[in-house]
Formats: sequence, C-alpha cells, structure tokens
Amino acid sequence: MNTGGADTADRPIGLTADSGIDRAAHHRLDEAWLAAAWSHPTTRVFVVSGGQALVDDTPDGGTELVMTPTFEAPLTETHRYFLGTDEHGVRYFALQKDTLPGRLDQSARAAGLREAGLLLSARDAGLMAHAVALENWQRLHRFCSRCGERTVIAAAGHIRRCPACGAEHYPRTDPAVIMLVTDEEDRALLGRQVHWPKGRFSTLAGFVEPGESIEKAVAREVWEEAGVTIGHVEYVASQPWPFPSSLMLGFIARAADARITVDGEEIEEARWFSREDLRTAIENGEILPPMGISIAARLIELWYGKPIPQPLTKAEA
Ligand SMILES: [Zn+2]
Repeated sequence: MNTGGADTADRPIGLTADSGIDRAAHHRLDEAWLAAAWSHPTTRVFVVSGGQALVDDTPDGGTELVMTPTFEAPLTETHRYFLGTDEHGVRYFALQKDTLPGRLDQSARAAGLREAGLLLSARDAGLMAHAVALENWQRLHRFCSRCGERTVIAAAGHIRRCPACGAEHYPRTDPAVIMLVTDEEDRALLGRQVHWPKGRFSTLAGFVEPGESIEKAVAREVWEEAGVTIGHVEYVASQPWPFPSSLMLGFIARAADARITVDGEEIEEARWFSREDLRTAIENGEILPPMGISIAARLIELWYGKPIPQPLTKAEA
C-alpha cells in the first residue's frame, strides 16, 4: 500500500515523520504529576498487547488509534507508559495488557505497527511506535542483567529497577544500517535474503557491531553480504524499527569496486539494477516491487526518482 503523493522525495518516511508529541521526559519520575495527568478528563490512553493496538476507520477515510479517556480504560496494575503531551496539552498513555480490549464497535480491529504505521497519522504512528518499543523491551528485560533478580517497572515505563542490587536498566535500542548502494553508472545494488519469498529483492542491511562506527558498518555489511567495496557513504534518514528494538539508519553509499560475490548464507543473490532494469523486472513479474513501511522501500524510491512501478496486469502485458 502506498501512502500516496507523487513527490516521493518530499514524502515523509514511515515512522520517521514528526509526531508532534513532546515526550516530556522530565515528568516520568514525578508520581504526583503522573497521577494528576492520568485522572485528567482530556487524557487519552490506548492498550498495546503483543505489538498490536486497536485501530479504527475515521469518517474521512483515514485510520486512527482507538483511544479512550482513562476512566474508560481497563484496569491495570503497573504497566502504564507515559508517552507525552501534544500541542493542545493532551497527555497520552499506553497500557500494556495480555490481550486487547473487546470492542462493541465492529469496525475497530487489531493491527501491528507494520500495517498501522502506513495508515495512521504521524501522531498516532509515533505514539504506537513508542508504546510498542517499550512493550518489547519490558517483555524481554524482566530480570536484572547484573544479578538475575526480577526487576520492577519505573519512570512510567522507561526504566526497570532491580530491588536486589539497585541497578537501573534503560530501554535498549539496537542500531542497524540499511543502504542503497550505487555504482559508477548509478545502478542500484539489490539483494535477496535466503529466506525471502521468491522474487523479493531489497537493499542490504545489518546490525552495527560493538565498537564500530555506522559508516564502517555500512562498508562491512556490503562487503560481507555482496563482496562489494564501498567508498563514499551518505546518511539519509533514520526509522524506529521496534521489531523488537532496532533503529534503522538509512544511507546512500557509492561502490568503489562493483564486482559482486554474495556470501550465500545471508544473501543468496545480489544484482546491479539500472532504473530501466528495475522497471522491466517489476513489470514482467520477475521481481516483487519494494513495498511496506520499511525505509528500504523509500531508499529505493529516492534513487529511482519517482514512485516505483507496479507489476503489469495481464491485460496490460
Ligand atoms: Zn540486580
């Protein structure tokens, strides 16, 4: 699904657009402030469960997070995340629950961030990304990494404290690089991961290693996966990717030596595509067009210079 708009270079990258939410982190340790904010009639809350939240259609054809005043919210013991305030002073919370609440309204449905991130407003997508990232981290960090004791939630969801050794644990974000590599002829290097569905090609990507700069990570990953040597590296944009805890750092990189040798383990095939190659390959169904919320699709689109072509229907072919 395309978010619309032909001016691809100006179109915001999913989950990266300014949500307009002030995270107001200075309030997270202020229990009295949080309690007052929670009970305020304009405050809005939504439930996050297993990376999903309820979304609903709006009368104008959009999609929104299902949020309620806090007095309508399900009871929860401790898993309450303060997400911030908007420009009107409305405070937003998320509740982590084992299940999403039932809804009488039949049009509301559960959605994960990959789907909802394409449909929601920047505000709602930003709120959901924040809540999903916190939920993932909370779920995977229940025990102290220093002493093994069970930790407790603090700072409105943004810290876990260890009652035994006093350690404070903070949400973790794993930097990953994702890059559209071009050669001297301005062709793009796209690869196929071993486990991807047939025909799927995309940009190369990988995690930044300990003690490594992101520029070095770009060069190392491209060398490891495709055997291509990288010269100039230019940062484009980042994208929160809480599946479960990544931050995708998007680059355009120039190959210094364009010869390809795939590693065969992670990447089974890599090819240089001219814009014409890509258009033809997509139109005749040889490869699947990049799509979805991932910054990969946008990096390819930025290089391509306009919306990526779609496969021709049988009638057109
Ligand atoms: Zn501990």
